[in-house]
Amino acid sequence: MPIRVPEIDDEGLLARYPFLPQGRSFIREMLEENGISVEDLIEAPWLEDVRVRGRLRLVDSVLQQEDAASSSTIDLSTDVGRMTETLSFLHAMLVVCASFDERLLSRWIEGESSRADKLLGMDSKNFSLLSSSFLSDIVVETNSEGSEIYWIPMVDFIELSPKISGNYWRLVNRPLRDGWVCLDSGAGETGRERASRLIKERVRESLRISCEDRISRMDDEFAAKFADPVERITGLLSERVKEEMPMTAAIRDDWPPCFESAVSELNQGVNVNHVGRVFLAAFSRSIGLQQEQACNFFSNAPDYDADTTSYQVGQIYEREYTPHGCSSLKTNARCPVQIGEDPLCDQEWLTHPLKYIRAKQRRRYGSSNAESDRDADDSNSDSANSS
Ligand code: SF4
Repeated sequence: MPIRVPEIDDEGLLARYPFLPQGRSFIREMLEENGISVEDLIEAPWLEDVRVRGRLRLVDSVLQQEDAASSSTIDLSTDVGRMTETLSFLHAMLVVCASFDERLLSRWIEGESSRADKLLGMDSKNFSLLSSSFLSDIVVETNSEGSEIYWIPMVDFIELSPKISGNYWRLVNRPLRDGWVCLDSGAGETGRERASRLIKERVRESLRISCEDRISRMDDEFAAKFADPVERITGLLSERVKEEMPMTAAIRDDWPPCFESAVSELNQGVNVNHVGRVFLAAFSRSIGLQQEQACNFFSNAPDYDADTTSYQVGQIYEREYTPHGCSSLKTNARCPVQIGEDPLCDQEWLTHPLKYIRAKQRRRYGSSNAESDRDADDSNSDSANSS
């Protein structure tokens, strides 16, 4: 990354490209100047458009909709338009971070960086300014046929190109001049589009660093505020991309006691009440379990009938029932936990079993990252010792 990034005063540009390194202070100032808190972002009625746009952006990104980059019709020449576009990016990012789901995170980062790639490739007017925020330098020339050729420092090319497939990106296939690598048109794309493809790798890296930083600073209470949008996006993903993102929360250790007890009681042939059964099916859907798996939970129930179960569970999946919250489960004798038995359930903010599972995922996410850091440290010290 460049040591010093150029200043960008154009607010429309910062709203269109909120992932720019200069975008952080722009977003912070926008929140401060308008007195917007995280709570406002989640529930203030006047920010509903931001949330709707954030959801669309999230869905576009994670489902990798082809035309996502150009689908925004927001007018960035107005204050409201710029605010909606900028804060929708922030909202989507917070939802993804609060899910603590590595696959969702990777998918969103891929979607946003692909979006950046497309937008940059089309933006002839601002390309030089924007690219100098992500590359250590860039030179544009026009050849005798009138097409633009982009020259990128070899250090940037060597770092970024191995992540891209195709012969075009191998250094032996690229013209070189005094430590600069030529990106001319190729594979049906212009030189600018090729340069954008390279920049996409830096955008991806910078988004991952930002998200990991946010996740490391997010506590359970903060993450729980995003439980509803997280549930919606993981539910949608489990339906739309079953084969790619199966069972976002299938690790049994993460299950809240109310879900665990409903599953084990049915498994032992205990007659779970109506609320418990509806909760079991709705919660299974919310955490991304497939319908057949939810039906299997009922197979040892004393009154089990395959067709009836399949129909009733199917209704809950189709109508996208929201699972019961803690107070409703307590009232209906479906909360097995007494005060002091589970520290998470004792938390004041823990009002829904989905918040429980997200908190567990956050802990698992944190400990698996710490483990990989330790592994990296070990291998570094091994190689240092051997050398
Ligand atoms: S407190 Fe809530 S999350 Fe915990 S077991 Fe009871 S209903 Fe489930």
